[in-house]
Amino acid sequence: MAANRKLLILPGDGIGPEVMRQARRVIEWLDEHRGLSFDVDEGLVGGAAYDATGTPLPDETLEAALASDAVLFGAVGGPKWEGLDFGLRPERALLGLRKELELFANLRPAVVFDALADASTLKRELVAGLDIVIVRELTGGIYFGEPRGIERLADGSRRGVNTEVYTTHEIQRVARVAFELARKRSGLVHSLDKANVLESSELWRQEVQALRDAEYADVELRHMYADNAAMQLVREPKQFDVIVTTNLFGDILSDCAAMLTGSLGMLPSASLGAPDGGGFSRGLYEPVHGTAPDIAGQDAANPLAEILSFAMLLRYSFGMADEADLVERAVEAVLEAGLRTADIMQPEMTRVSTSAMGDAVLRELDKLAA
Ligand code: NAD
Repeated sequence: MAANRKLLILPGDGIGPEVMRQARRVIEWLDEHRGLSFDVDEGLVGGAAYDATGTPLPDETLEAALASDAVLFGAVGGPKWEGLDFGLRPERALLGLRKELELFANLRPAVVFDALADASTLKRELVAGLDIVIVRELTGGIYFGEPRGIERLADGSRRGVNTEVYTTHEIQRVARVAFELARKRSGLVHSLDKANVLESSELWRQEVQALRDAEYADVELRHMYADNAAMQLVREPKQFDVIVTTNLFGDILSDCAAMLTGSLGMLPSASLGAPDGGGFSRGLYEPVHGTAPDIAGQDAANPLAEILSFAMLLRYSFGMADEADLVERAVEAVLEAGLRTADIMQPEMTRVSTSAMGDAVLRELDKLAA
């Protein structure tokens, strides 16, 4: 039952702990008002962990993550640790967690709240009501493929090599995540590749299609070349619902889709592993933004991306869609009421601090629950 869900909180560095404090208040609210007594643990990660233990991902943190049903992550890194060896950098912790938890699907929703439609660089009518999700393969493809490296040639010049490689298993497990998501949404998946020039993409296209035909005949599947998709994302983004693609194309296109919403401080994300018996995946949930060293410690950061990451956690790892809806509705109501942190400030709106934004979300939760 829900009562024993294990949640590990890793605030990290910079604004990480500040935005996490507000997410934690939402967790406590649900505990108090909905009787969801999560088993919450908190750990050290990133620069904070390096300072305390000499490593960005201490064994204790990794063990706690492996023992949890889901991890809510803040952000890691900052100027203080930039001179460290690559293997000791705070950001390594995130790669280590993704690898050890076997998180192979990265979900990036791009949702435009009506109240923020004018913050996008695209015209309001193109983005108002936008709600898409990009499923990016996270542990394969050209970022991991062998051979890789830089070699010296006989003539003294150099050659750099990376390898785009995918197997049936890697393609189908991430496509499955996309099809399952589509079933809960509008039933449409776009799969992006470069099957016109890459054999690995030809295989990608065949395997995604084969899985759809065998198990997801109720879902509509459209294939699109990734370069065309980049164009379509800024031309007519609402034609998409669920997009599934490779590590490389997903990396680039999810940033493109993120900017449709206009604000880094509003964007949640999830990295998921294989679904467990109950249909829900172990996952790591985090805002897309980093540690924002320029505003850290000023009570100025926008905590909504962290709070929305927690809503995703409720939906995808804990199977609590009603509670996820509730949290998302509270965020929407705060925006409708005109409250804005500095990053999303607009004329005639009320500027608030990180903690005041947290207060406002709790007030809206109280109203919605009344
Ligand atoms: P960043 O996302 O931290 O900041 C970019 C800009 O957006 C800054 O001006 C910042 O003030 C603003 N911003 C970001 N989040 C905000 C929020 N919630 N509210 C208000 N404004 C916000 O990216 P960066 O400056 O490129 O990186 C800073 C550090 O964060 C680096 O050490 C980087 O490695 C790290 N980083 C970590 C993660 C992660 O932990 N997943 C992701 C990206 C960057």
